[in-house]
Amino acid sequence: MGKACCIGVDIGGTFIKMGLFDEKGVQYALERLPSNALRPPEMLLESLVQACRNLMDARQAHEGRVLAVGLGVAGKLDNQEGRVVFSPNLPNMAGFPLAPLLEKALGIPVFMENDANVFGLGELWAGHGRQVANWIGVTLGTGVGGCLVTNGSLWLGDRLGFVGEIGHVIVDPHGPSCACGQTGCLEAHASGSSLTRGITQAFHEGSPLPSWLCDAIASGSLTPEHVDKAARTGHPRALDLFRRMGWALGLALGNLFTFLGIQTAVIGGGVSQAWDLFFPHLMETLKTTPRMLDPSKIKIHRTSLGPLAPLYGAAHLAWQGLQERAGDST
Ligand SMILES: [Zn+2]
Repeated sequence: MGKACCIGVDIGGTFIKMGLFDEKGVQYALERLPSNALRPPEMLLESLVQACRNLMDARQAHEGRVLAVGLGVAGKLDNQEGRVVFSPNLPNMAGFPLAPLLEKALGIPVFMENDANVFGLGELWAGHGRQVANWIGVTLGTGVGGCLVTNGSLWLGDRLGFVGEIGHVIVDPHGPSCACGQTGCLEAHASGSSLTRGITQAFHEGSPLPSWLCDAIASGSLTPEHVDKAARTGHPRALDLFRRMGWALGLALGNLFTFLGIQTAVIGGGVSQAWDLFFPHLMETLKTTPRMLDPSKIKIHRTSLGPLAPLYGAAHLAWQGLQERAGDST
């Protein structure tokens, strides 16, 4: 008899990643399909259904079963109704009841949670979070997401559709504007968007930039990886953007550590690959700013699960959901 598994799905703006995991977190299959984020939500649902069915068939071929699906989606969600209220990665998904429709099509339970929360669940299950009771999770991607773990469980707040939004903590009221409408948010200093915006601004101000960087800006193909490369070749403006990223992260984490009385954070997301460019500045800020913290006790971990952390978390969400439902029915 094969192992029972749950499917974890990480729906990003470019790719949908999917994986099969047993209840101990052992991974059996990994799939990736394009999100085609601008297509109608019904079409995205259709390809999601098909991909889940393929994984379910593959499991059945090994005499195993798929019991549930966990979805990680960026943005504001209505957890009661399984609806995406707003997703920056999937703008056409606004108001779409993704979870109940997928559940109906597959005939197995589907659970959905914010992408930063599933990152936290992944770290809790298989990463640094296993050993630590209280910590803050931060995801550095196009935006900045966050989650809070207390006593080994994800903090869900008042179930308002958002929680742990560290990206919209203001670190500089006179700083750059943020996609949320405020100015000076952490996200406006420490996200992939803030890096590309900062270097584009330098370009328009006439700062001398390498020709390959100017070409990427002019053709609209600039990515955070370009800014990373510019910093590694010693470009002062790019280096300064990573310095500012580290400073802003240190300030936001220092404030939250002081408020919560905790001293551990786990950082993931695609932009965390630039770790060595921002981490020294983050630690410098943490060591000098919040006076009540003991700098020698602060632990900032880089995710050990790499880009798969949200996938582990989405599968863990499904296993947790099944357990809760079983508890409710006894
Ligand atoms: Zn904001």
